[in-house]
Amino acid sequence: MMKIKKGIQLIDQHDKNYMYGGKFGGNYIPETLKKPIDDLTKLFAKLRKDKNFLKERDYHFKNYIGAPTPFIKLENLTEHLGGAQIYAKVVSEANGGAHKIYNATVHCLIAKRAGKKYIVGDTGAGYAGKMLSMAAKKFGLKCKIFMGAKDIKRQRPNVEAMKKNGAQIVPVITGSQTLVDAVSECMRYWVSNCDEVHQCIGSTVGPNIFIKICAWSTAQISRELIKQVKEEFGKIPDKLKLINCVGGGSSAAGFWNEFMNTHAQFIGVEAGGPKNSKLHAAPLTNGSKIGILHGAAQYVIQDKEGQIGSTDSISAGLDYPGISPLHCFLKDTKRARYTSASDEEALKAYRLVSKLENISPSLEPSHAFAEAIKLAPKLKSSEIIIVNSCGDSLKDKDIIKQKLGSYIR
Ligand SMILES: *Cc1c(COP(=O)(O)O)cnc(C)c1O
Repeated sequence: MMKIKKGIQLIDQHDKNYMYGGKFGGNYIPETLKKPIDDLTKLFAKLRKDKNFLKERDYHFKNYIGAPTPFIKLENLTEHLGGAQIYAKVVSEANGGAHKIYNATVHCLIAKRAGKKYIVGDTGAGYAGKMLSMAAKKFGLKCKIFMGAKDIKRQRPNVEAMKKNGAQIVPVITGSQTLVDAVSECMRYWVSNCDEVHQCIGSTVGPNIFIKICAWSTAQISRELIKQVKEEFGKIPDKLKLINCVGGGSSAAGFWNEFMNTHAQFIGVEAGGPKNSKLHAAPLTNGSKIGILHGAAQYVIQDKEGQIGSTDSISAGLDYPGISPLHCFLKDTKRARYTSASDEEALKAYRLVSKLENISPSLEPSHAFAEAIKLAPKLKSSEIIIVNSCGDSLKDKDIIKQKLGSYIR
């Protein structure tokens, strides 16, 4: 039986081969990547214990990102559903409108410590790239974003935003011309230029060091939340559910991290895709097999031959065939439970929450709200649900208008 080791951080639960539970993660990388990854691994191990670096991180989290983000009670939604008390951690109030800014900021700080002038990153829908270009501008680094040629066409507004921040967009014309290929191409570039260049991966995926840096950065969410919860309730409530959407898994890992050794229940919500379609982006919910993607073993959507399978979701941020090895581990140890919400359920949840409350979650956290809306009426009013509202709906304005006829925020 796979078990979580007590007293060890989630990101450090791996063995000497960087495998979580002996099965997930690792560094499945070409020989040429070994040196830059070893160097980065050593540097990060040092920095996370360096008091001055931690001070610098906290300074920028507060003064640049705007920490702490609010923790609020959704009284109208609670009353409307009649059951558990529903709260939200409004991470969408962070600078840039989503949690990706934590990881982007930390990577820029590491790049500066490493004496690098350039930072490179990959992006699919464009949000990881947009946040990285934003942070690079702030910290005075030259920025290149690798993006599939197909995605460049589909995600015009984000491409414009990245250019405005001074980033160079590198179109990737290999393979499917989407995120999967952008990551590979970005790594290739990094290997050839690692003396001057630092690489950032936008979620808790990829070779182990990128998973670690990302989850260590988003852990800020639960560092704030555990304090806010204790202040509100005087303790951690006896019955507490923490609900988060999962794409790559970085917001969920950060939302849960500080609650690992408490009795709080974790629920991860994947993208179930369109209702009457076989396509989805929910490898944990739909029993996908283990495969290797972007240098790490994980549950991944694949065909019979082991080729990465097609996915579909209304929410660009969740539309990814794999899932962080951290979440594969949390699933198999049964520390977290995973489910999915369909496109339609997410849209409905978005509509209800933005109608009743003064927050307007993007389509990704709307998947988490869909699960909260399903659960709350079945629970007693002594039970507490907290949803991570990790992104703002403004970016989804067009698709929401198209699907629902109007957009309110
Ligand atoms: C990118 C993104 C996600 C999905 O990524 P995770 O790593 O699973 O958090 C979720 N929500 C928003 C708002 C995003 O931008």
